[in-house]
Amino acid sequence: MDSQKQTVNFGPGPAKLPRSVLLEIQKELVDYKGLGISVLEMSHRSSDFAKIINNAENLVRELLAVPDNYKVIFLQGGGCGQFSAVPFNLIGLKPGRCADYVVTGVWSAKAAEEAKKFGTVNMVLPKLGSYTRIPDPSTWNLNPEASYVYYCANETVHGVEFDFVPDVKGAVLVCDMSSNFLSRPVDVSKFGVIFAGAQKNVGPAGVTVVIVRDDLLGFALPECPSILEYKVQVASGSLYNTPPCFSIYVVGLVLEWIKNNGGAAAMKKLNTIKSQMIYEIIDNSQGFYVSVGGIRVSLYNAVTVEDVQKLAAFMRNFLEMHQL
Ligand SMILES: *Cc1c(COP(=O)(O)O)cnc(C)c1O
Repeated sequence: MDSQKQTVNFGPGPAKLPRSVLLEIQKELVDYKGLGISVLEMSHRSSDFAKIINNAENLVRELLAVPDNYKVIFLQGGGCGQFSAVPFNLIGLKPGRCADYVVTGVWSAKAAEEAKKFGTVNMVLPKLGSYTRIPDPSTWNLNPEASYVYYCANETVHGVEFDFVPDVKGAVLVCDMSSNFLSRPVDVSKFGVIFAGAQKNVGPAGVTVVIVRDDLLGFALPECPSILEYKVQVASGSLYNTPPCFSIYVVGLVLEWIKNNGGAAAMKKLNTIKSQMIYEIIDNSQGFYVSVGGIRVSLYNAVTVEDVQKLAAFMRNFLEMHQL
């Protein structure tokens, strides 16, 4: 009996990985493709690792149709590391050292707080009493002098997700896609920078995918640590120092899995089905289930429809037993 199959993981991140990927890792762990060593022990300067990181980059490019004038790099420090890297690299784009922050939840609030260390932060939205909606873009207070406009595509804690890319009138748009990266297609050409910690939708903890438009390289503040500087990392092919080799390897396997399962469009279709299954129960429960607070369920890419069916059955049962 395979005990793993009894457990369904709805964790918020690190989150479920596709089972076939775990089995592949297991198979290759001790002896990677006949080399006699593990990826865990392999030099990041070896030609074998070069294949691994190039494959991961190419798959990001393919799955998101990343235009040629964008660089893809794999960094450390997680999504939160980018809260510092973004202002370090971009707030100097214009002389006033000002940036626009669209705060719709805890992650964008944290990013805005961090950016205050580097310059002036313009809060695009009035302070929201609770993070449950996105105010109409026509009411946004954008500063034309800002070096960039920052937002978070999906705020995991309160569940506020953008279903559109904000029109910022040609300003440099920066987006934290940590929790919905590759859960749906996205038009990369609308962005200056996209970043995503891998551990929600595309891999294990330890690596952050950064997609940056090449004309934005070279404007980092002089005090920017080299390890956080996009230009330095691009020039070294993400190998300025020892990268998280194993995490990058697993990201490559997950991206292959996404590709083999129909890519970002197919992920979106499945994710819509999965979330509808749960929201239908919540919405039809006459107030028994409420959306924010209490139990959290994450339905990232690797969570299957069958997993969600199990949860839905449990929720229906629980409702029947306890609703007055
Ligand atoms: C999880 C998450 C983060 C934090 O990422 P770390 O890798 O833990 O730093 C940031 N932003 C969003 C939207 C997240 O979901």
